[in-house]
Amino acid sequence: MTTDTLAGTCPECETDLTVPTMGKGETLACPECMLTLRVEDVSDGRITLHMVETQLRDWGQ
Ligand SMILES: [Zn+2]
Repeated sequence: MTTDTLAGTCPECETDLTVPTMGKGETLACPECMLTLRVEDVSDGRITLHMVETQLRDWGQ
C-alpha cells in the first residue's frame, strides 16, 4: 500500500497531524494551535516536527 501522506504530532499541542508528503526543512502550520512547524526528519511515513520560533525582532539586515 502506498500513501501520499505522512503522520506526525504537533510538539506543542500534541495533535496528530496528517500532511501531504513533505521533505526535511519544509514548514506547515498546525491547524490546532497555529504554530509554524518545521519538518526535522522523515522516517517510515512519519515526520518529526519542531516548532519554529517566530521572528518578531528585526531581521538584523
Ligand atoms: Zn499544534
